[in-house]
Amino acid sequence: MIIDLRSDTVTKPTLGMLEAMMQAKVGDDVYKEDPTVNALEERLANMFGKPSAMFFPTGTMANQTAIKLHTNPGDQVICDKDAHIYHYEGGGASFNSGVSCKLIQGDRGMFTAEQVLEAINPPDFYHSPLTTLVEVENTANRGGGSCWDFEELKKIRTVCDTNNLGFHLDGARLWNALVAKNETAKDYGQLFDTISVCLSKGLGCPIGSVLIGDEKIMQNAMRIRKIFGGGMRQVGYLAAAGIYALDNHIDRLAEDHKKAKEIGQVLSDLSFIKKVETIETNIVIFELLERTDEAKFLKSLEDKNIRLSGMGQGKLRIVTHLDYTDEMHDRFLSTLRILEL
Ligand SMILES: *Cc1c(COP(=O)(O)O)cnc(C)c1O
Repeated sequence: MIIDLRSDTVTKPTLGMLEAMMQAKVGDDVYKEDPTVNALEERLANMFGKPSAMFFPTGTMANQTAIKLHTNPGDQVICDKDAHIYHYEGGGASFNSGVSCKLIQGDRGMFTAEQVLEAINPPDFYHSPLTTLVEVENTANRGGGSCWDFEELKKIRTVCDTNNLGFHLDGARLWNALVAKNETAKDYGQLFDTISVCLSKGLGCPIGSVLIGDEKIMQNAMRIRKIFGGGMRQVGYLAAAGIYALDNHIDRLAEDHKKAKEIGQVLSDLSFIKKVETIETNIVIFELLERTDEAKFLKSLEDKNIRLSGMGQGKLRIVTHLDYTDEMHDRFLSTLRILEL
């Protein structure tokens, strides 16, 4: 038994999901003729109360498309210093859209409307890049799966409106936030111009993300996805996994959150651990004491078939997910409790 807690992307499709995939009706999506892709897109557009949605192979491509739709080369995007679009998309914002990022020193991946106001370059001061987009991430990945305060997001929307800025949500793990905070997709649909969501994280699909947005901005999404190499054919088999996950795998995220909190409690009692960050969803970030040997810690877990990931700067990450069973959870907690370093 391998207990893989490196990420919620390590899950494999369940039997039910595989069956749904096998049954899918498909067609050529480049001609918009795949009925299952069309159904998935329509389902998500309705869920968020938006007119338009588009299926993407990855969250990165969906975010990169959104950035391209909102900006012109030379523009500046406001985001947190820990944002996925800045850290983990290969420099794509500058490569694909020719934009720079103005990084906000946020708290656990989140910031305030005031900080956004301060980060906007005056539009008539032509020496500075033109600010055109604000991007937020919910849950914030490097923020430890933290959830935004919806009231703060509303204030940022107002700042965007008064300053003529686009507002994009990287909602790779928005599902976790909706479950943890008892919010609805429609709340978010009302607030943002564009939203990307992942089906391949907590929802357990092998692949797939969707970009949801307003009619006007999404008009060009098809062209941008094509340019980025993301035109797909009979991908209804993959969209079927997405529909199955929306039906079956959202509510159960609460179990992942509960397990993450229980792991956090055990970790905070261990003598060699300095700090466990606040746990709101399925991500646990913790720090070892300086005297603790990180490589030795990881090795002693690896010897027991338990995998976590290092984030650098002495921080480690655990992510709970669909394939992390109750049995694995008991085994992991009891292993931690008796771990000698
Ligand atoms: C995983 C993730 C993405 C998208 O990643 P892909 O691996 O390209 O699907 C985007 N944003 C955040 C915060 C993520 O965690």
